[in-house]
Amino acid sequence: MGFNLTNGGLIRRENFIDGEWTPAKDDARFAVSNPATGDIIENVADSGAGDARAAVDAAARAFPSWRNTLPKERAAILRKWHTLILEHSDLLGELISLEQGKPLAEGRGEVAYAASYVAWFADEATRIYGDIIPQQQRGKRMSAVKEPLGVVAAITPWNFPAAMIARKIAPALAAGCTVVAKPAEDTPLTALALALLAHEAGTPKGVLNVISASRDRAVPAVAEWLQDSRVRKITFTGSTPVGKYLARESAGTLKKLSLELGGNAPFIVFDDADLDAAVTGLLAAKFRNGGQTCVCPNRVYVQTGVYERFSKLLSQRVAELKVGPATDPSSQIGPMINFRAIDKIARHVDDAVAHGAKVLTGGKTLPELGPHYFSPTVLADASADMVLCCEETFGPVVPLFPFVDEAEAVRAANDTPFGLAAYFYSDDARRIDRVARLLEAGIVGINEGALASEAAPFGGVKESGYGREGSKYGLDDYLSIKYICQGGLD
Ligand code: ADP
Repeated sequence: MGFNLTNGGLIRRENFIDGEWTPAKDDARFAVSNPATGDIIENVADSGAGDARAAVDAAARAFPSWRNTLPKERAAILRKWHTLILEHSDLLGELISLEQGKPLAEGRGEVAYAASYVAWFADEATRIYGDIIPQQQRGKRMSAVKEPLGVVAAITPWNFPAAMIARKIAPALAAGCTVVAKPAEDTPLTALALALLAHEAGTPKGVLNVISASRDRAVPAVAEWLQDSRVRKITFTGSTPVGKYLARESAGTLKKLSLELGGNAPFIVFDDADLDAAVTGLLAAKFRNGGQTCVCPNRVYVQTGVYERFSKLLSQRVAELKVGPATDPSSQIGPMINFRAIDKIARHVDDAVAHGAKVLTGGKTLPELGPHYFSPTVLADASADMVLCCEETFGPVVPLFPFVDEAEAVRAANDTPFGLAAYFYSDDARRIDRVARLLEAGIVGINEGALASEAAPFGGVKESGYGREGSKYGLDDYLSIKYICQGGLD
């Protein structure tokens, strides 16, 4: 196998609450398995409402002193965490690959990506400025200062087990908030390992708490946080229905929310594009993590003048992609996360074919490799009446939609309730300016398929949610502005 994680000492099976590794109150456990084989990796704590409450108790107790630390003290702890993450890069990368299935190179890449957010917010912690407001009346001084919100609850998905945790926890801690976190049930081990390293980096007890829960028990555990008025913010990455549920259920205590929800990213290739660059960009954007990212292009619109040539170039490259387990260093596409995922992908492809799509390459499950593999697929002649046009497939499937003119492409691209990422390829300067403005998305890629960066604001519009992660804007989601007005001055 090559994996030797237990010896690496990073595997934890208990909750991390108040600086201690603690079993669930009723000692319940659930299995975390390797999606490549279905084998159980570890049985971890299956937390209920009582465990969730204990985590908030600890975070609420820790808040008054954590908020009073100097920004440079918080920065120093985050920098140490960053160093420890990088020092354990190989083990963490393997752990990510093991529980999530992405190829090893991508697993290690994710560790570097996760660490980059920690380093970024270590620096940002020292730049939380306020304002002295220009004087309006004699004897009165007005200022605006930024303060940490309080206890933050972070709920994360399985597709980036390290990066999603890091880009929520790092800004929260930098801002002076304390955290309760619940990683996805498919991939809790990476989050627990990161908590271990944060502890070693000197995070005081109670400042960061991580609990794991199976899907069924996550509901009452998270409900506890939603109802607890001490939790002042929910930061969530996941599906739109769950995001809406969290917004509804936290309304009773009016929590601040950051919601990074589903996408349905369009990728437009215009007649005037550099086709080789467009194919390369599409491969990078689409097949990262086997198509299981919320910014993966879901609908590829290709102008009729280059449609045939583009389809051919793309299918050749996609057919060459190597599918296999993360343990095989030559794998470019790993297993999908679970059976639900495979089922959805197969349903989307079957529905597209039933509605007239042609399979140019792939189009099938690969049971000879394991239970959760799907072949990288290109479908020609996709149309708006197919399920894959309105739902995110979250797998290695590229549907090609022919279009005639720019207005038609922009209309089709925007014809979705979602608005996370959008991509287009064109070499026409005026078109580039026009289309970038017209696309309804929080993130636009022009002649580029790899957009993610800790220095850039990541987030959506419409039903893809609100709030931004990373960049100079990322801290604001964890801060509130206090206006201070002092009178009676000379
Ligand atoms: P996905 O479909 O990718 O699994 P989800 O939105 O279902 O995305 O899950 C994202 C995160 O939200 C996971 O940590 C999951 O456990 C959690 N989650 C899902 N449903 C609920 C719920 N009803 N209450 C609280 N947390 C939930």
